[in-house]
Amino acid sequence: MAAASVAADSHSRAKAEFIAGGTTLLDLMKLDVMQPDTIIDINSLSAAGYGRIELNQHGLRLGALVRMADAADHAGIKSNYPVVAQSLAQAASQQLRNMASLGGNVLQRTRCNYFRDVSYRECNKRNPGSGCAAMSGFNRMHAVLGGSDHCIATYPGDFAQALIALEAAVEIASRSGNRTIPFANLHRKPADTPDQETNLRPGEMIEAFLIPAANWTRRSLYLKVRDRESYEFALASAAVALDQQNGIVRAARIALGGLATVPWRAFEAESFLRGKPVNEDNAAAAASAAFASAQGHGHNDFKIALGKRTLSRALQQAAALEI
Ligand SMILES: Cc1cc2nc3c(=O)[nH]c(=O)nc-3n(C[C@H](O)[C@H](O)[C@H](O)COP(=O)(O)OP(=O)(O)OC[C@H]3O[C@@H](n4cnc5c(N)ncnc54)[C@H](O)[C@@H]3O)c2cc1C
Ligand code: SF4
Repeated sequence: MAAASVAADSHSRAKAEFIAGGTTLLDLMKLDVMQPDTIIDINSLSAAGYGRIELNQHGLRLGALVRMADAADHAGIKSNYPVVAQSLAQAASQQLRNMASLGGNVLQRTRCNYFRDVSYRECNKRNPGSGCAAMSGFNRMHAVLGGSDHCIATYPGDFAQALIALEAAVEIASRSGNRTIPFANLHRKPADTPDQETNLRPGEMIEAFLIPAANWTRRSLYLKVRDRESYEFALASAAVALDQQNGIVRAARIALGGLATVPWRAFEAESFLRGKPVNEDNAAAAASAAFASAQGHGHNDFKIALGKRTLSRALQQAAALEI
């Protein structure tokens, strides 16, 4: 499609950025954290399918330019994919949700204060090779899962947890052709290159997210724990989807937010629950399995216990849903 090709072509130039709602990009430009020399407004692609929500028996397709509020309020998503609607409804504020796009949402940057404050030189993500101020600094909001010696910044979004739990795919468009990848392959753990946050190539644009229909999507929910009731990022969150028959879990899909450097799928908890009922003991044991590799860094040690409690509660609530 012509407009998408033009946008993708311009983006392959150095220091170009797409803009959708602008609620991440403009924020970081004002802070001098991002300084693109070209900004490409992609909003005209809404009319070309990037702004569409499609729901049928095969699954849910969400265009990257769908606004968060529109997906959160969609009746079919609320009843068939509640974890998706809830993850969006509990994010940011109504004004932001009206403006912000789904594509921009999954690509939002960390809220690490040292990343957002350019007066700190030490930040491997913003200034590769400079060190990490959070390691010995104030790290209450930082990750206990998926970190490295070079970065422990938390992935801050909510919607991504619903996508990774429901095994979504991402449709990617570019001038050299389109491709579809598992959503789980979009984000990169920091390892020794925290500045490289995704596997998108220059000139590539997210066109849509595809969530396959499955037996677990209706019995699903998003539980978010934060410092205040609304308009706040997660300290810990859980996206849970269960395929349950006669009180026994046939399959579980679980993701954690606010706790890891990337959207985090909790495979160990999923395996533990298969073939078992979700009672208090099993929920707690599944949550312990999910945090077996967790590592605190001082101020954020409490997140390990908080994360376990959050997941345990989310599992019990999901199991008790009347659907
Ligand atoms: C005060 C505040 C509170 C917030 N609270 C939360 C919260 O609780 N939970 C939560 O999840 N989020 C929260 N957010 C983040 C907010 O949801 C994101 O800023 C928003 O979703 C980004 O979408 P956007 O369309 O505005 O992105 P933009 O700012 O337009 O773009 C963000 C980035 O994505 C790139 N981009 C955008 N669209 C595409 C595309 N289709 N393909 C490729 N690249 C693209 C841009 O180039 C840019 O780098 C909060 C934000 C603020 C400012
Ligand atoms: S945690 Fe990551 S983003 Fe934060 S200061 Fe360290 S390197 Fe920078």
